[in-house]
Amino acid sequence: MTQTDTILEPGRLFIGGEWRDAASGRSFETVNPSNGEVLTTVAEAGKDDVDAAVQAARSAFPAWAETDPRKRAKLLFRIADELEARKDELGRLEALDNGKPYRQARNIDVVDAAKAFRYYAGWADKIEGDVLPAPGAHLAYTRREPVGVCGAIIPWNYPLLMAAWKVAPALACGNTVVLKPAEQTPLTALELGRIIAEVGVPAGVVNILTGFGDPAGAAIVAHPDVDKIAFTGSTAVGKLIQREAAGTLKRISLELGGKSPNIVFADADMEAAVKGAATGILYNTGQACTAGSRLLLEASIHDEFMEKLKARVERMTPGDAFDDKTRLGPLVSQEQLDQVMGYVEKGKAEGAELVTGGDRANVNGGKGFFLSPTIFDRVTPEMTIAREEIFGPVLAVSTFEDMDDAVAQGNATEYGLAAAVWTRDVAKAHLAAHRLHAGTVWINTYHVMDTGAPFGGYKQSGYGRELGKNAIDLYTQVKTVWVNLG
Ligand code: NAP
Ligand code: MG
Repeated sequence: MTQTDTILEPGRLFIGGEWRDAASGRSFETVNPSNGEVLTTVAEAGKDDVDAAVQAARSAFPAWAETDPRKRAKLLFRIADELEARKDELGRLEALDNGKPYRQARNIDVVDAAKAFRYYAGWADKIEGDVLPAPGAHLAYTRREPVGVCGAIIPWNYPLLMAAWKVAPALACGNTVVLKPAEQTPLTALELGRIIAEVGVPAGVVNILTGFGDPAGAAIVAHPDVDKIAFTGSTAVGKLIQREAAGTLKRISLELGGKSPNIVFADADMEAAVKGAATGILYNTGQACTAGSRLLLEASIHDEFMEKLKARVERMTPGDAFDDKTRLGPLVSQEQLDQVMGYVEKGKAEGAELVTGGDRANVNGGKGFFLSPTIFDRVTPEMTIAREEIFGPVLAVSTFEDMDDAVAQGNATEYGLAAAVWTRDVAKAHLAAHRLHAGTVWINTYHVMDTGAPFGGYKQSGYGRELGKNAIDLYTQVKTVWVNLG
């Protein structure tokens, strides 16, 4: 299938089961990062559209919350089946809109989104309360009730998957949703809306607003009738949301940025660790909140490791999302490319040693947002590229002396999303895993995730755990009921 098989229709807002233009009539363009060309336009939601979507979600809530959980499960299973059945088309849309390689979009993003719906479909009829030990002639028990209307605000790096991580558990628990995809990547969320309508999810249970963080995202956060916000994105916007949510004390969960250490001890399987270091930083063109962006090498293996890593990374040439050979796509936008190039310049200016990359890659006549994979060596802790999330294929390398030094350097960040440790020593591996301040620690691997395994941050990487049974806590609230038996 090629990218030109169909012309993309303009996207509209999905509110109360209907497709509409924005109340203002405004729309904006979404661009193909592989060649910089406009794909189509989508409606630009404003405050009035947010009000309408929240009202639709509020009206739909009581009936949806009381729907037999097995019926909710059945609908979620059908969404999962439809996602899988349409994985060619959804993968194509994701590759067009985000720039990630088509095969990856189709075989990983779409398939994992389907898994999330299937997993939470399984939970829908297993959300139980407890009977509690109660004093005297009393019965006390708990119920897990849905939170209400949930605002889901998601980023552009895994557009469909992030929508699935939020919509699936929210619906399983009986909530209704207002979803705002990122402005750069609105298309697969709209397709998800189409599937949701087709399988028979009642109108208003899921509403989808394409638009900008300000005003649409901000209006969802401020809305008094939204009960919870689930946000994935930058730490800066996460802080803003936490402040704004205080006005109505709505519940929030935040999946934010990272600066994850990838720690290689001298006794590691070097070939595996080299591969893991490359994948850790280059997967999704480094646009992953869990990117292994700080490579910490035990000093004694530094030279040999860097030689192998440089050779491996230099083989990863960026390419068009629809080229079968492509493993490394473009950055999502000109803005993101400029931002990442800014970090490359800072790395050079602050004295890090540029080992490879750092320049724009010439793909599609220079029209796409491509950057060659970039490695900086001899990075010191005070350098900007050691501290700030770059969100691109830019690796910062430094060395350590022993376990204490590795853990201290690994933890020397305001973030705490993920970390990895490479060693053949089981005790060393677990000791490091216990001492690292991160929501996910990988041992002798990188970027492995599963719908059943909780995911989220320590420190300024946010709080709340998505995936696994932990997400049920995010989308339910506990009610205790006391009965007088006297
Ligand atoms: P972002 O600005 O945090 O955006 C994430 C989502 O929040 C988008 O849907 C965005 O809308 C929305 N938003 C923006 N301002 C808002 C506001 N005031 N109120 C409510 N919602 C708001 O992240 P980004 O622009 O996509 O990327 C910027 C940086 O964030 C990246 O360079 C990277 O460092 C980080 N990032 C982290 C993750 C992660 O998973 N941890 C993912 C993506 C990006 P718009 O799209 O309209 O701005
Ligand atoms: Mg786009």
